[in-house]
Amino acid sequence: MIKKKQKRPKICTIGSHCSLQVLKGAKDEGFSTILICEKKRYNIYKRFAFIDHILFVDRFENILEKPYQDRLNELDCIIIPHGTLIANLNSDQIEGINIPFFGNRFILRWEADRLLKEKLMRSARLNVPNTVKTKDEIDRLCIVKLRGAAGGRGYFMAWDKQSFNEGCQRLVNSGVIEREEDLYIPEYIQGVPVFLHYFYSPLSDEVEFMGVDRRYESDIDGIARIPSKQQLNVTIEPTYNVIGNIPLVLRESLLEEVYRMGENFVKATQKLVPPGIPGPFCLEGVYTKDADFISFEFSARIVAGTNLYIAGSPYSDLLFENEMSTGRRIALEIKRSFSNQQLDKVLT
Ligand code: ATP
Repeated sequence: MIKKKQKRPKICTIGSHCSLQVLKGAKDEGFSTILICEKKRYNIYKRFAFIDHILFVDRFENILEKPYQDRLNELDCIIIPHGTLIANLNSDQIEGINIPFFGNRFILRWEADRLLKEKLMRSARLNVPNTVKTKDEIDRLCIVKLRGAAGGRGYFMAWDKQSFNEGCQRLVNSGVIEREEDLYIPEYIQGVPVFLHYFYSPLSDEVEFMGVDRRYESDIDGIARIPSKQQLNVTIEPTYNVIGNIPLVLRESLLEEVYRMGENFVKATQKLVPPGIPGPFCLEGVYTKDADFISFEFSARIVAGTNLYIAGSPYSDLLFENEMSTGRRIALEIKRSFSNQQLDKVLT
């Protein structure tokens, strides 16, 4: 799949999620940029001078078609994957695209599959929430999730068999799932949810901590605005639909553990999914009242929370002289590996 590039590559991504950050960062590092844009979204993307070329599609899935892939290869593109790509294409489709990808495209399958995901997280020695195998074993507050990646949709809380049955029935009735086996039951971790952004460079063999955010989710984050008296009188089923992201800095004493977790995660990916995880990734979890990090998820690619730091973050400012977003960091890694003729270390 790796195609050694002679000509300086162009940087390409699909128009959603963090595409503005990625292409702005690419332009700042001197690359030509290409956006794969659904026609209906052009009104947004027409405004930005750092987008050099737009390839129009009716739907993002069009990039599975050979003429589009041929065109992108003629343009000498490297695709930067992000959340919208994996929300629109399944793992087989992503692995089959005949265009060079930044990062390890094969690890995206491990992100999409809950069992593989848990295996990788355990192998990285992350603390993960205990999971309950069947509803009969529910003896504490749990957050019931759909098995595939679902962006927090359809999640519900259960604290015993009856509350599980009620939540499950609602999802069956609304056609979200067919059977209760489609659900996955981790315990609910009390504390504050935090999203840690990392970048691993195979060129320097270093893990860089790029920033941290918290998510602003509707309507779980709106529930606290309703006084308890009124809450008790209305039926509220919280949802976790991400609306935006809020910046955060951590207590400095937590950084040692943050780096240790990132480094362990990189080692685990190299063992289980060679070549590992060149580029950005995110560890997502909850800090408990004892400041322990319990990790419920990872993302094996750039996350949208990095959009906060287009002009650098309090952490990237400590590592780089330039204003370094994660999107720009990707472009810098491509630039360095291109000039050392080591693109094969960062592409699959
Ligand atoms: P998906 O992986 O299905 O695409 P997602 O990544 O948006 O969706 P998660 O990150 O699993 O979904 O969870 C959404 C939200 O639910 C999190 O931001 C967090 O607030 C909360 N959450 C998830 N798991 C737990 C847990 N075990 N304990 C406490 N809160 C959790």
